[in-house]
Amino acid sequence: MTSPAARTALELTADLPVADLEDFYRDLHRHPELSLREHRTAGKLAGQLRQAGFETAEGMGGTGVAGVLRNGDGPVVLVRADMDALPVAEATGLPYASGTAGVMHACGHDLHVTRPAGAARALAAGRDTWRGTLLMVGQPAEETGQGAARMVADGLYERFGRPDVLLGQHAAPGPAGLYPHVPGLIMSASTDVDIVVHGRGGHGSRPEATVDPVVTAAYLVTRLQTVVSRELAAGEAAVLTVGRIEAGSRPDIISDEAYVSLNPRTRSEPVRQRMPAAVRRIAHGECLAAGCPREPEVTVGTTFPVTVNDAATDTAVAAVHGEVFGADTVFDPGPAMGSEDFSEPALGPVPYAYRFVTTTPAEVWEQAPGDTVPEKFSAVPSNHGPRFAPDLSTVAPGVRTLVSGTLTQLSVA
Ligand code: ZN
Ligand code: ZN
Repeated sequence: MTSPAARTALELTADLPVADLEDFYRDLHRHPELSLREHRTAGKLAGQLRQAGFETAEGMGGTGVAGVLRNGDGPVVLVRADMDALPVAEATGLPYASGTAGVMHACGHDLHVTRPAGAARALAAGRDTWRGTLLMVGQPAEETGQGAARMVADGLYERFGRPDVLLGQHAAPGPAGLYPHVPGLIMSASTDVDIVVHGRGGHGSRPEATVDPVVTAAYLVTRLQTVVSRELAAGEAAVLTVGRIEAGSRPDIISDEAYVSLNPRTRSEPVRQRMPAAVRRIAHGECLAAGCPREPEVTVGTTFPVTVNDAATDTAVAAVHGEVFGADTVFDPGPAMGSEDFSEPALGPVPYAYRFVTTTPAEVWEQAPGDTVPEKFSAVPSNHGPRFAPDLSTVAPGVRTLVSGTLTQLSVA
């Protein structure tokens, strides 16, 4: 027995303009734009939404786009696509590889923009099959954690109405054609922290006249590993990576300062809140132990909240994907350590469902070293890497995931 949402989605997407959608995707991929500079991308998405009959607004929160289609009484459903690229030099060798040096759609946000462009057309053309309000959002600056909050602060909800539900999705490694869903915690919280260690520089031959910030930074990096291993209960999942350590200019000079940047990721809000305090305490302790002339500077930077799906919403979307693509394509991978600003608190207490679409080309997956799924998963090109190259054949099914998922939240006859 097929549900009304699945039946309608299959009808509305039976004739998708696949070649047009793939062209649109290739064009976006060729022209990546960094966070808050997504002018061209935003213009392209707005153009597609207008062509489909949506009323649009551009420049929201900087470079955001919103398009609304009001289609009678029914729920207000917000579909969110992030639009920004990354400062990565592309190494895919694709014929449509980035034409902008050092910038690449390495996280698949070009796919995310293509899907609502296609879904808007299909849902607008089939508007007699559903009731409600569809709000398509092209969000800037996901990678820097700013975009969602900026759009809401710029009056997204005042202008277009508060949604009843939010839907989002992300391209992910894994053999193309799978639809991972989690009916609860799906993404982790993340916080960037920068530390400046102040020593006292001098000649490398006379350590007695200096306070060496390099040695202090080395102890600091080692001691920071104990936050996860010694301060959290065994059942808590967390990761603390020191991604940057910098100091000095020559082997025989003891520098004045050392810089340490780290990124703790956690799966609960209380643990997230404890992390910066622990980092601060350890930084101060190590600098005190070393006799640093000044206390360290500890700055908390970009922060992403945890992403916890509304179970009922996610289960409904997962069920329709099972109907449309086959029950064996939908599975629960458990929570990931990656992070998102999709659930930004500024968006308010609105239920949401966020999910993944796997995009690794079949032959790449087959040829990847390893016998088990986890081994292959670690071996294939991943988001943020210079060789991340989603399979073009996932463009059209991605549109179908969005149409079917959205229809579960609208009123369908
Ligand atoms: Zn992303
Ligand atoms: Zn990313």
